[in-house]
This record gives sequence, C-alpha cells and structure tokens, in this order.
Amino acid sequence: MDNLDFRTEYDLSKEEIIELLKSDGNNLFETADKVRKYYVGDAVHLRGLIEFSNICKRNCLYCGIRALNSSVERYRLSEDDILDFAEHGIDLGYKTIVLQSGEDDFFSCDKICRIIEKIKKFDVAITLSIGERSYQDYKAFKDAGADRYLIRIETTDKNLYKKMHPNASYENRVECLHNLKELGYEVGTGCLVGLPGQSIDSLADDILFFKEINADMIGIGPFIPHPQTPLKGELNPDNFSMALKVMAVTRLLLKDINIPATTAMETLNPNGRIIALQSGANVVMPNITQGKYKLKYEIYPNKASADMDSFAYHKNIVNKIKSIGRYVSLDKGFRKN
Ligand code: SAM
Repeated sequence: MDNLDFRTEYDLSKEEIIELLKSDGNNLFETADKVRKYYVGDAVHLRGLIEFSNICKRNCLYCGIRALNSSVERYRLSEDDILDFAEHGIDLGYKTIVLQSGEDDFFSCDKICRIIEKIKKFDVAITLSIGERSYQDYKAFKDAGADRYLIRIETTDKNLYKKMHPNASYENRVECLHNLKELGYEVGTGCLVGLPGQSIDSLADDILFFKEINADMIGIGPFIPHPQTPLKGELNPDNFSMALKVMAVTRLLLKDINIPATTAMETLNPNGRIIALQSGANVVMPNITQGKYKLKYEIYPNKASADMDSFAYHKNIVNKIKSIGRYVSLDKGFRKN
C-alpha cells in the first residue's frame, strides 16, 4: 500500500484497510487530500449547527448528556430561539442549518415539522440529527422540507454496540439508516473512534459498512471521555490520529461524499480541523447555538470554541479555511454524484 494513486477506483479489501489503519498515515493523508481535491474540489461547506435540546432519554455510556447524568443542567430551546439562531446563521451566510438534540420526545413530530417549515422559508438546506424515530416521523420531516439526516452507527461491532447502548438495538439503528435512504434523504452516518474495547478490525468493518450503505456524509468522531460517564478516564492518546486515518480511508472509498472536519478532532488537537481538511474532509459545522446553551450541550468536556460567540467563531473558521488555500462554498453543498 505504499503507492496509493488518487485516481484509482479503490475497492480496498478489509486487510488493506487494516494495513492503512496500522500505518503512520502520512501517505494515506496525502492521497486522501488529493482524492478530495479531484472529486469535490477546494470548496468547504459550512453547516450552521443548532443544539436545541440536551435532554435525552438514552444512556449511551460515552455521552455526557446521557439521561443518568444528573449533573447536567438541562435545557430546551423555544421555537422562537431556534428560529432566531437559524436566522443569525443564515445572516452569516450559512446555506445549511443542522438541528441537533438528544432524543427528546418533547419535540414531537408536529413540533419538528413546524420548525422545519419555518426555517425552509429562508431557502436553506436542513439537516436533522435527533436520533431514532419512526418511519412515519422521518417521512413527515422529509415532507416538511428536511433534506439530510445524520445518525451515526457509532460502531458496527454488535457486542460493543450493545455494551455502549443499554436498552438500544443495533438493528433498529441500521433500520433507521435504511428508512432514511428509502425516503430520499441525504444520509450521514459515522463512528466513534477509540471506544474502550474497540478493535482496528471493527473500525475496518465500520468503513466497509459506510461503503455498503453508500452514505452521503460520514462524520468520524474521536471518542473523548466525559468525567460524569461510566467511561471517564478511558482516553487513548491515539484517538485523534486513528480517527484521522479512519476518515482518510473513508475518503478513498467514498470519493464524492461530504466529510466534516469534526469538532471532536479540534478538541483533541488545536489544529485538528485544518489537519482534517488537509486529510480528506470538505465540511465544517460551526456551532451557531448562542449564549449559555452552547456550554450546556456537553457531550464531552472542553469542546473546541464552545466559549466563542458565533460571529467570532465564524470569522475564525473562515480565516483558517482561507489560510490553507481553500474557500467557503456559496451553495447548499449536496453530494455531487
Ligand atoms: N441523539 C442524536 C443521535 O443519537 O444521533 C444526536 C445527538 S448525539 C449527542 C451526537 C453524537 O455525539 C453521537 O452520534 C456521538 O457519536 C457523539 N458523542 C457523544 N458522546 C461523545 C464523546 N464522549 N466523544 C465524542 N463524541 C461523542
């Protein structure tokens, strides 16, 4: 695997993926960057992220907003606040608004549809990231105007999935992905890298899963332990570089998709976003949640730039993008296939 050629139609075997994940990554990152440039260009798509509720009925072992974490100060944004934040993001030039939350049933299907319809009046794309819902809900959100849906599989190792997600079903998570595809969403998924007990073998399976379902977006998050979760103290110093390698191999296999340089990468490495943008990524999702709420959506500690206001944060990201010879996209940034 020393001679990766970026124009090759990669159909990497599991063994070859494992070899790349075990490598130092240098050749891989360079090739992934060339693939990114050749297939999706130098544009970086900005998606404005609104974290509208940190209330969650789930108990994912790794997540700081899990239901059993009683030290979280919980919040739900009002519909007016959500719309205000969205308008602010649109004023900054964002062409996609991402609505993310814990699994909070207070936000019924009707409420979510109403919010989608109001934001859609501004002619932007809408991405939802609100977890597992029924086929009927997903259909209603799509009919109301939602364009994309993010729901990470987190890990394809079924035993590990079971350990990490009490009272949840791997099969249901996969079914959600299939339902979303069938309904015509652009579908985003991804995995956490560095969960205790996770093997390189299973990370290779994760990448092959992304290819198999032909995901339109892949978000790779290095796992960052949260002190008020059962996985506190489980930080593996290799999580950043391994997450970067998983992301870069994904770019080789799914050349034309959208891949974010994730906030978790920036949290583990002060230059993490730029490094990711130069190793296969072409999307950044700045947080446009405002005020005290931003700090309260603490899925892991010390989230990068959580203390910056959204205008300063936006300027900072745009400058970083320009500093590496890239530019901010002016379109909605759908997958170009
Ligand atoms: N509830 C929705 C869902 O289940 O998809 C979306 C919200 S959830 C908090 C968003 C993502 O945060 C998850 O897919 C997970 O990968 C990531 N996450 C949670 N805890 C994390 C941690 N400790 N380190 C890194 N990423 C984490």
